[in-house]
Amino acid sequence: MTLVERFLKYVSFPTTSGEDREGKCSTDGQYVLAEELKKELSELGLTDISSNEYGIVYSTLKGEGNLTIALLAHMDTSPSASGENIKPRIIENYDGTDIELSQNIYLKPQEFETLKDKKGHKLIVTDGKTLLGGDDKAGIAIIMTVLDELIKENKKHVNIEVIFTTDEEIGTGVHHVEMDKIHAAYGYTVDGGSSKYINKSNFNAINMEVTIKGRSVHPGSAKNKMINANTYAMIYDHSLPQFERPEYTEKREGFFHLCEMKGSEEEVHLSYILRDFSKSDLDHRCYIAKKTAEEINHSLGYEAVEVTLIPCYNNMEDILEKNPQVIKRITDAYKSLNLDYEFEDIRGGTDGAQLSFRGLPCPNLGTGDYNCHGRFEYVDVNEMETMVKVLKQMLIK
Ligand SMILES: [Zn+2]
Repeated sequence: MTLVERFLKYVSFPTTSGEDREGKCSTDGQYVLAEELKKELSELGLTDISSNEYGIVYSTLKGEGNLTIALLAHMDTSPSASGENIKPRIIENYDGTDIELSQNIYLKPQEFETLKDKKGHKLIVTDGKTLLGGDDKAGIAIIMTVLDELIKENKKHVNIEVIFTTDEEIGTGVHHVEMDKIHAAYGYTVDGGSSKYINKSNFNAINMEVTIKGRSVHPGSAKNKMINANTYAMIYDHSLPQFERPEYTEKREGFFHLCEMKGSEEEVHLSYILRDFSKSDLDHRCYIAKKTAEEINHSLGYEAVEVTLIPCYNNMEDILEKNPQVIKRITDAYKSLNLDYEFEDIRGGTDGAQLSFRGLPCPNLGTGDYNCHGRFEYVDVNEMETMVKVLKQMLIK
């Protein structure tokens, strides 16, 4: 099978993740793809192939020497768009113009700037009705092709562990990766955009729940008696830095984001996410959140506002700085192929960030997949081919 044949095969498996389920992965379709991948890994000649109750697939390609490197990709696709009945279309030699996905649905370089440097490339697009599934089946196809070529070309390579995960898109799958089944010194998730991006930093993340307790009295006789929790919820939110919100921030700027508010005069619940690249900036953000509550409580004379902070995930940058060989190995591969690379900060979290803190330093690499999670998703086959070369170069001895 070629790289493109593999990709087309994997996207034909519906693997949209859904609501979290106890003791298994969120949707049965992921198990079906897991079984197929286990079969393919076995046909390629990998060993120690297994999967757990959450559908996570483990396997090994024995190489030479003591070093083992892990490659990871996720099997599920985002629940934000349909992943059923995907009808991919190959554009052999993209001419740089608007692409009609289906009647009146266009993928335009004017709206999606990444298309502007794809002229002459081979692209795969959707029919405008579903997502493509390149996130992260491009990663799976790249990894499978790397294994296939290393074996066929009889190249001397390090030991390789391949792990295909489930439920990445709903953030739960990575918790079920069993670290004692992984022997690699470090790894790489192959899950992202441009093939020239290396992601070695991501947000530090804290979730915050705020409860405002008011005093409800009939509005007709409320004078000097009612304390409306809705009013104090608005005061609380407006007392936080107004322009440190997702809609006003970019690059390495952090934010407070109010995700949900619900309640009535008696009690209101506000759910926030707090994000920063630097730990000390995030600590300061938490301080402001608590200080704001204290000041409102002081003015009201009772504990009206209660703030609960829930640590979520951390920036893997610290771990990768302590293990410089991880980034060096991949940048050396780019350099020896005369390819440019750039470091890109992820304004979110990755499975690799979580694994980094559980003992497997794990930056993320691109796949050539763009506009993920929607019907304008497309992959650049030329970039997927580039990543096959980069990964092979990194793994050979
Ligand atoms: Zn992904």
